[in-house]
Amino acid sequence: MRPDRIAVVDWSAAARPRLGRDSIWLGLAGAGGVTVENLPTRAAAEERLHALVAEALAAGERLLIGADFAFGYPAGFAAGLTGRAGALAVWEWLAARIADGPDNANNRFAVAAEANRAFPGVGPFWFRPAGMDLPDLPLRGNARHGHGLPERRLADQRARGAQPVWKLGTPGAVGSQVLTGLPVLWRLRAAHPGRIAAWPLEPWQDAPVVLAEVFPSLLAPAVAAAERQDPGLPRDAHQVRLLAGALWQLAGAGGLEALLRPDLPEAVLAEEGWILGLGHEAALREAAAAPELTPPRLRNDCFAMPQGVDWVPVDEALARLRAALRPVTGTETLAVAEAAGRILAAPCIARRANPPAPNSAVDGYGFAHAATGAGVQRLPLVPGRAAAGQPFRGAVPPGAALRILTGAILPEGVDTVVLEEDTASDGQMVAFDGPVKPGANTRLAGEDVAEGAAVLPAGHRLRPPDLALLTALGIGQVTVHRPLRVAVLSTGDELLAEAQAEVAPHRIFDANRPMLLSTVAGWGYRPVDLGLAPDDEAEIAARLDRGAAMADVILTSGGASAGDEDHVSRLLRLRGELSSWRIALKPGRPLALAMWRGVPVFGLPGNPVAALVCTLIFARPALSLLAGGSWLEPQGFTVPAAFSKRKKAGRREYLRARLSAEGAAEVFASEGSGRISGLAWATGLVELPDGAAVIEPGTPVRYLPYSGFGI
Ligand code: AMP
Ligand code: MG
Repeated sequence: MRPDRIAVVDWSAAARPRLGRDSIWLGLAGAGGVTVENLPTRAAAEERLHALVAEALAAGERLLIGADFAFGYPAGFAAGLTGRAGALAVWEWLAARIADGPDNANNRFAVAAEANRAFPGVGPFWFRPAGMDLPDLPLRGNARHGHGLPERRLADQRARGAQPVWKLGTPGAVGSQVLTGLPVLWRLRAAHPGRIAAWPLEPWQDAPVVLAEVFPSLLAPAVAAAERQDPGLPRDAHQVRLLAGALWQLAGAGGLEALLRPDLPEAVLAEEGWILGLGHEAALREAAAAPELTPPRLRNDCFAMPQGVDWVPVDEALARLRAALRPVTGTETLAVAEAAGRILAAPCIARRANPPAPNSAVDGYGFAHAATGAGVQRLPLVPGRAAAGQPFRGAVPPGAALRILTGAILPEGVDTVVLEEDTASDGQMVAFDGPVKPGANTRLAGEDVAEGAAVLPAGHRLRPPDLALLTALGIGQVTVHRPLRVAVLSTGDELLAEAQAEVAPHRIFDANRPMLLSTVAGWGYRPVDLGLAPDDEAEIAARLDRGAAMADVILTSGGASAGDEDHVSRLLRLRGELSSWRIALKPGRPLALAMWRGVPVFGLPGNPVAALVCTLIFARPALSLLAGGSWLEPQGFTVPAAFSKRKKAGRREYLRARLSAEGAAEVFASEGSGRISGLAWATGLVELPDGAAVIEPGTPVRYLPYSGFGI
């Protein structure tokens, strides 16, 4: 099996929603490396898995989902419980009984007790929370007898550190994860009959989606090393990240097959299941240590448009792009101070609460609220003071007060602070009017952010305020995507690279390249200048080759239509994988989307006005996805028009616009797409909808400022 994507989920049996340590983590390996997600509940995780499966099936891709709980029980259990020997019979039995709420509240202990009743004696399941009255579920393991089942599966005997599946609680227990996880997998499998198979319980070779049991402890040394290197991420996050990455690496090298074919009797595999990678620890660890994941390129046909499609509305074109693209950049770990502008490849988890301890929000006097009341309060002052960074080490007795400054930790005996401006003091006593609200002018520990909270998700681009947040929370390092390298090529026989004195009238200067290079640099990508090429296919091909070697994506301008001199589109059709998208958009002619040696190429129109509009509307969100970020919608707002226009139905229009002093949208006098002066005159675009429109002064229109596009 050569999956297009690998998901590894670290399950949790938590009884309440939870993020951070010991919650549900999902590692996703695919094009461009590995990302990590943190999910607060099993319901959220189930929804995410359904979405991943739906995405894979829709795209015709193969998906491997690894889950870190046992897929089967020791021999004899399935038949004793259900009358059928295969593990899938147990999945079905559990799915019919386990009730697991959107808030993680569930009945797993009662279901385990019911399973125990199907067997003689006491057990096999054991452990329940103290105070839960379930006579068929013993509190201790040694209270079990006579149930007749083995303590461990074959896989659990072989895997170092694996726990028996019967134990439902106490540290390291996995039993509850099996009970809550299998129903989720059963529903996933049932939602796509015949398309999802559970390895090795059933034939799986032809299924596009394969579920497999994994055991992250097989990677223990690699996980320990990663924790030392990046202590900001909980162990579970490192586990799913490394395991997904290692499986991906192995799959790329053709090494996954060996893991998928354990040499064991069919009956054992179908009933007890097996751990993917067990017996292949060395290969897995080696793959986890591989320095850089080699991202498989985008599919060559990723831009293909169905036959017979003529003009594509803008929104449909955007939706197609969104579905076709995914991250193509690897990941690295950086110090937070170095990471501005980078895109997170893993969520950031607070290592420390903010504030870490209760403290004063003002300069004033602190005391115990319980010893004060209404009317004038006169409290003797304890000698000394508490200031930020200079804690008061003693205790403040009830009925006394202490001078306290903003940011100082509340000393023992202080829970309330009165503002200095509301007091009078002679240095011995402080007087103020009561009553004061309990806790007034104080900040609680963790009132801003709790320790362990997921504060920023994968895909988020780090801005200066984010660096403040991460630093405040004790996060020193972040796992981020490598910067996307964007190559820019201009084409056209008429173009000259630079302004020069003696110029023939048939030559013009290359206006697009400086515009596009600075645009992508401003977006946080690494611009790669491919210069300009004449309308000559060999020359253009040589530049594209260089772009494919040096960059992750190529933007070309000029020659993208279907005319005699449109050499870019001809070349891409002959030697690359071209899909010309005829987008119902003005300004903008067809957008040429192609793959060249595995690298996506955006063939923009040559006209600078159209080139910029297509870059802002199409390339911007597309580049963000390629870089590991989220899909970006343009930010706009509705303002009154300061112009008149009649627009026919059929295509969306973008006009060069700026706001008048009154906040109305003025548009550039000429719509001619050769008018570069209008681009610079404007401060944004007015977007007119696909349908017909009659616009008079005062009609509301959508204004998209350049700043909202990040330029
Ligand atoms: P094309 O898309 O190649 O048919 O070009 C359309 C128009 O844009 C023509 O008038 C070109 O001269 C002009 N053009 C193409 N590339 C550039 C460029 N890099 N800078 C300025 N104008 C350009
Ligand atoms: Mg041209």
